[in-house]
Amino acid sequence: MKLVFASSNSHKINEIKKLLPENIELLGLNDIECFDEIPETAETIEGNAILKADYITQKYGYNCFADDSGLEINALGGKPGVYSARYAGEPRDDNKNINKVLAELENQSDRGANFKTVICLNLNGHQYLFTGIIDGNITQERKGSNGFGYDPIFVPDGYDETFAQMAFEEKNQISHRAKAVMQMIDFFEKKSI
Ligand code: IMP
Repeated sequence: MKLVFASSNSHKINEIKKLLPENIELLGLNDIECFDEIPETAETIEGNAILKADYITQKYGYNCFADDSGLEINALGGKPGVYSARYAGEPRDDNKNINKVLAELENQSDRGANFKTVICLNLNGHQYLFTGIIDGNITQERKGSNGFGYDPIFVPDGYDETFAQMAFEEKNQISHRAKAVMQMIDFFEKKSI
């Protein structure tokens, strides 16, 4: 079975390819010659994952999955959430996003937050959502230089270092993204696909 991952990031595609059952042929957007700017205009993380997967299934007819992620901070009512990538405006700038979050949390004692990934899978006319969440806290200042996005200011529960201080493999075993992907893999295994 051919399955499209609505991503053109070859690292992400290869990581997931290794985890999927062998009879699934995983294709990226480049493989189906989709070079479109796929709309991400929904107001929720779920909504954006659905928009992206539906765009591919409707335009190209493939079974497809798409992911969308964000950081949700309790004291900010779940922000930046779906706006995580461009929280401090255009063009997207991880450093400015972190500055904005730290400024908004100044003098705030509740620093609880979570990262969330939603994967939307369109498979043979049905739609399935898989959600991966990791809880943690926002630090007072940046720590570490690995990773991307808000990694330098997020300490997952049960750890005393930020995502940016962890080795890539360690973060990848516990992350929101890994949790959502593992749910989808379990789903394929249970369905014997
Ligand atoms: P995307 O949907 O995976 O592109 O994630 C959207 C935005 O959420 C990213 O641009 C980051 O700002 C933030 N984000 C998502 N996942 C992570 C993560 O694992 N670490 C840090 N920031 C993340």
